[in-house]
Amino acid sequence: MFRNEKKSRFVLCQMLLLTSLSSLPTSMNQNPERTGSQCLLRWFHGKIDRRKSEKLLLDIKTNGLFLVRESIHYPGDYTLSVYHKNKVEHYRIIYSKNKLTIDEEGFFDNLPGLVEHYTKDADGLCTKLITPLPKQGGNFFSVSPEEFASGGWTISLADLIIGEPIGKGEFGDVLKGLYKGKPVAIKKLKDDNGAARDQLLQEASLMTSVRHPNLVSLLGIVQEETIYLVLEFMGKGSLVEYLRSRGRSVITKKDQINFATDTCSAMAYLEDRQLAHRDLAARNVLVNDEDTAKVSDFGLANRIDYNPAQVGGKLPIKWMAPEALKDNKFTSKSDMWSFGILLWEIYSFGRVPYPRIPLADVVMHVERGYRMEAPEGCPPEIYTIMTEAWNGDPEKRPTFKIVLQKLHDLQAVTV
Ligand code: ADP
Ligand code: MG
Repeated sequence: MFRNEKKSRFVLCQMLLLTSLSSLPTSMNQNPERTGSQCLLRWFHGKIDRRKSEKLLLDIKTNGLFLVRESIHYPGDYTLSVYHKNKVEHYRIIYSKNKLTIDEEGFFDNLPGLVEHYTKDADGLCTKLITPLPKQGGNFFSVSPEEFASGGWTISLADLIIGEPIGKGEFGDVLKGLYKGKPVAIKKLKDDNGAARDQLLQEASLMTSVRHPNLVSLLGIVQEETIYLVLEFMGKGSLVEYLRSRGRSVITKKDQINFATDTCSAMAYLEDRQLAHRDLAARNVLVNDEDTAKVSDFGLANRIDYNPAQVGGKLPIKWMAPEALKDNKFTSKSDMWSFGILLWEIYSFGRVPYPRIPLADVVMHVERGYRMEAPEGCPPEIYTIMTEAWNGDPEKRPTFKIVLQKLHDLQAVTV
């Protein structure tokens, strides 16, 4: 059953940019009025290059007109582009220690916070930010081979040594390899039809825009006859296999809290960036040789039109929040529900959730208020987080930021 759920993941592994204000995590949403807009991030243009941003701003020419884009050269960072007196100035926004900064003096939790600050005061910029240039359409991440090339993400097949298969993915085999003398994982596109190629490229595109020690990182892509994604190598494979194969006798309380904290840390980062993962589960967390857990399987961005019925896949029902199942509402809050299930997986050493309930009945039981019991030996603090994550009301679930704090506290006292 677990295998079926895994196979059927298809588009479920996507991350979705949360565009609607109502779905923003509370940390982003303390004062919805502050940007005076229905969409908090309307000035966010995703991955467009310097030239394109200049063209957009110079087309309008209003002092203080601005947009924010993803940095192509510094993955994980952003660029603020501002029009002032016939010129466009670009400011790099550095992501450092979970904060954003332009001048290493003012630090912000998130982009809206930074933009708000410079809307009030130029504070060293050429002008204060006056008019956001809204992005047309809703596509945050574009897919174009030229962008990968110009961003320095292209790897030549000649530099890659391809080894044996280590896993099976949605798009084809995952192979072990060597790149510049370092072990890597290579995701190879099986059938190079247009749609699959686009999907894999979109996954890669999203991966170029995020960077965190607990997110599996993309090293580059090969774009020759077939597409290969070259990924950081995670030597101990998926967390669920790790938990099952080693079990209670090998895995310590410390290992468990470390896995939980690692995963939560990546999720807090995504939450801050208003990205929903949509398929958080122990099968999509990988473990490296140092026993660090990292979230993988970013899948597709911006599939806002996503409809499971059209995809025809089976849903990972046991991991999905009720509102995600019923209304297709994927947010950091629905990720939090899945995180609760993931915690349960960690503390039950990789058991399949709702062990005694047939898959077909799970939704009904959950809707009637049934929740899983604590796994044997699970610390009460962890079970409290699970039950909070499984609040039927998404807004009442905690943020990843808050849960991370609790896990850090618990980590500190776990031996
Ligand atoms: P997909 O989500 O496209 O179906 P996955 O990313 O889940 O594929 O990969 C399938 C399997 O391949 C994983 O369960 C894991 O065993 C292996 N794998 C994937 N990425 C890596 C990696 N970076 N390092 C090591 N093994 C990996
Ligand atoms: Mg997977």
